[in-house]
Amino acid sequence: MPIRRHRADQPWAGAEANDEARRRAGYPRYGAEVLDDSMRFRRETVRALRRFARRRPWRGTTAEQRIKLAELHGDLCRIYGKRTRLRMRVWRLINWECYLPAEDVIVLPRLSVVSYLHEFAHALGRNERGACRWSLNLFRKAFPRSFARCHFEGHLLVADHGRRGQQQ
Ligand SMILES: [Zn+2]
Repeated sequence: MPIRRHRADQPWAGAEANDEARRRAGYPRYGAEVLDDSMRFRRETVRALRRFARRRPWRGTTAEQRIKLAELHGDLCRIYGKRTRLRMRVWRLINWECYLPAEDVIVLPRLSVVSYLHEFAHALGRNERGACRWSLNLFRKAFPRSFARCHFEGHLLVADHGRRGQQQ
């Protein structure tokens, strides 16, 4: 089983990846650093995430999973008054997850809930550390059991075991 990584907008991911580049980009060295039990979220946000969790985002076909994520995205856009577009395929040759501020577009070629939340946090104007903090704490709140089955490698949240080829 391949290890599934939540790669958050890392165009340099792969051979060129190095700690120094990540540090300069503002990523926390260890994802666990940004976990914070006292972090508060809007009540509607937590409610939207829990509704999404009940729909079992990793079940169903890829098309079905995309629909569930699109619905969560619609909810979050309403809550935060955003019109950010979500592209769940390779877009303009971009094949890594990222947020493009000029176009207000999230590109998410691979389905990953944590990566989606990370990029949405960028859409809300959060910097690298803030996006890690927002997405990881929110994911943990809505998916405590999935979170417990993950560990950190640097700032990346990695599933302990491959889940039949699906990302978290
Ligand atoms: Zn980021």
